[in-house]
Amino acid sequence: MKASAFSYARPTSVMNALELLAAYGDKAKVLSGGQSLMPAMNLRLISPELVVDIGGVAELRGIAVRGDVLTIGALTRHVDLLKSSEIAAHAPLLTEAIAHVAHPAIRNKGTLGGSLAHADPAAELPACMLALNATIIVSGQSGERRIAAEDFFKGIYETALSAQELLTAVELPVARTNSAHFFCEFARRHGDYAIAGLAAQAAVDGEVLTGLRMAFFAVGDRPLLAKAAGRLLNIVITPALLSEASGALAEELNPQDDQQASASMRRHLAKVLMARSVSALLRRPDLNAGGAV
Ligand SMILES: Cc1cc2nc3c(=O)[nH]c(=O)nc-3n(C[C@H](O)[C@H](O)[C@H](O)COP(=O)(O)OP(=O)(O)OC[C@H]3O[C@@H](n4cnc5c(N)ncnc54)[C@H](O)[C@@H]3O)c2cc1C
Repeated sequence: MKASAFSYARPTSVMNALELLAAYGDKAKVLSGGQSLMPAMNLRLISPELVVDIGGVAELRGIAVRGDVLTIGALTRHVDLLKSSEIAAHAPLLTEAIAHVAHPAIRNKGTLGGSLAHADPAAELPACMLALNATIIVSGQSGERRIAAEDFFKGIYETALSAQELLTAVELPVARTNSAHFFCEFARRHGDYAIAGLAAQAAVDGEVLTGLRMAFFAVGDRPLLAKAAGRLLNIVITPALLSEASGALAEELNPQDDQQASASMRRHLAKVLMARSVSALLRRPDLNAGGAV
């Protein structure tokens, strides 16, 4: 099947793109890498009147470090994140996660902004934004909004963006010297969307975690920043404590049943991921010996 007929515009500035979005409202769709939008249009799941191709808006590209803040433009492609030395140095969790996003051909076109705006609950990058405590920057004709990643994802393919707004950039605090990260997902094949996954960022002080943001994905209608992780802070973690925390995690999750996995399997995998992450972050193999799950 092919897409329904549509008009096409290629603005060269954010202001120009916003004028088009304001004029067409929800009859327009932003085109970034096209890796999710074009398949949806070709299947006629959506049929916009106007496609606003932001590929020529240079101000949306690039990676910059200023002081303690890493800024990534919305049009930055997955492959650019993967190869960036700034990302590897200041947000190594992202470098690790990107390698799990789809396959090289898709990573060559797909963009960070597109992935976040698309908000697939099984996608890796939205969860990384939660783990990294990102601020998502969106622009509309009335100005700019800065939205905490935790408030940005609202449900399956649903975000805080309105049809008249453009996601322009993301800001992340740079990793500190005592930072540690963990990324792991279960998928049928490398490059497939996850069945269950975890992106975590921690601050480690000797034997304890003084900060811990665990963002689970593919286990609910949006990425979830686990409250249960709070039980593991500022204390020497025992297998019993970890078991308690993973019990609390299972209560927090609301995973779906689908052809890939049952809800109970997803809950189990999330608990396995929690144990693996704590063991890896603290370099404590004893915590991943099986008893804690
Ligand atoms: C076979 C296949 C496998 C895939 N596997 C994975 C995977 O394992 N993990 C994963 O995370 N992703 C996967 N993807 C999706 C891929 O990562 C996409 O690149 C990504 O979801 C969308 O990015 P895009 O730049 O292509 O956005 P587009 O397809 O251009 O746009 C996606 C949506 O976001 C909106 N949008 C885009 N940019 C903006 C913006 N700046 N402001 C406002 N709205 C915007 C569009 O209007 C559209 O609704 C896969 C895709 C394919 C085709």
